[in-house]
Amino acid sequence: MTRFTGEQQLVAHNGDFPAPGIKRITEKVYFLTGIGSNATLVEGEDSCLLIDAMINEQDGRAALGEVRKVTKKPIETLIYTHTHPDHMSGAGILAANAKEIIARRPTVPTYGKSELINEVGTARGAKQWGFGLTPEESINIGAGAFMPSFGQAAILRPTRLVAGERSKLNIDGIAVELIAADGETDDQTFVWLPEERVLCSGDDYYHSFPNVSPVRGGQYRNAAAWVESLNTILRLAPDHLLPGHTEAVSGRQAIQDLITTYRDGVQYIVEETLKGMNQGLTPEQLVERVQLPAQLKDLPQLQEYYGKVSWTIRSIFSGYLGWFDGNPTRLGFMPVKARAEKQLALAGGAARVLTAAEKALADEDEQWAAELCDILLDAEKLVPQAKDLKAKALSVLARLDVNACARHYYLCCAKELEK
Ligand SMILES: [Zn+2]
Repeated sequence: MTRFTGEQQLVAHNGDFPAPGIKRITEKVYFLTGIGSNATLVEGEDSCLLIDAMINEQDGRAALGEVRKVTKKPIETLIYTHTHPDHMSGAGILAANAKEIIARRPTVPTYGKSELINEVGTARGAKQWGFGLTPEESINIGAGAFMPSFGQAAILRPTRLVAGERSKLNIDGIAVELIAADGETDDQTFVWLPEERVLCSGDDYYHSFPNVSPVRGGQYRNAAAWVESLNTILRLAPDHLLPGHTEAVSGRQAIQDLITTYRDGVQYIVEETLKGMNQGLTPEQLVERVQLPAQLKDLPQLQEYYGKVSWTIRSIFSGYLGWFDGNPTRLGFMPVKARAEKQLALAGGAARVLTAAEKALADEDEQWAAELCDILLDAEKLVPQAKDLKAKALSVLARLDVNACARHYYLCCAKELEK
């Protein structure tokens, strides 16, 4: 039996992404699917409302071609479910003549001086998305099909920010409600079309365990608020759920069933993590203990293609209790190199640790192999051998993982080590 069921499952996940195109949802509403994200078109009396604007110029151009097959009315209003570039970067193509671009004011604004970490953010993002990997290496980006890069961006910024929990708008005869829905972002807004019973849910639902804590890094994503936003979907009881990524879902009961279990999954992890924290457990101990219960863990919509339970647990811990795990040993500090040198001395020297790492790799204990390599690298001993061995361990860990972001990060770092 293969060990690489994670990789196989991620390959099978390619079948979950809708083909690029347009699909009529109701008389007035069309769902636009792209390579990287989705958008929704609503026909008004004389113009169209667009909700989200695809991931790049290329997807924007393809979507505009689809729009022109169904209507000649101009797109005069654009609403963003959230202001992430993967939903804004086709706007300059799709909504070049928009008179108004609406988004929600974030609950928590971007932290001050965030521009000082732009470079590391970009570098970690490229690793998370696997830019530079081949299609076979990458497989997909977890919430969308394979992309070699984000491509050309034509971002249009919002011209109007709405505040508050709920705003009712009438856009050229289309009744629209914007409902605050913190989750994947602090500016997430549901776009509810009450007359159509259609909900554009942004990134609070997609066909994967949610990415509560992306490995590229970012401000704390409020997992408890995310649960409440899923409850909002259940209260609205839409007939059509149009997410920002992966396939649309139709049928009121089907959506209730889907979102109930999705909510249950996230809620369970949030509550069990907090209860464990309250007992004094550390993040490491919580990752070992808290897992989705049997009745939820095999559900297709809770597979860890994009988000991951263990990362969610760590994120909740630091979000609520901060960096300190409660062990007083960690109140102090030991320089990284000095600690590694002491560890090597205790183990009988660098050569013995390298041999142990080689044995761990041969024994299919790749995590331990990588950790032993880290001691050598921290001590700056046998560096070429440790880099080579760690690259091999990461390449196997990548294949064991169902999570696209983890896979990409492992593989990109393995390539860097091999250089
Ligand atoms: Zn997105």
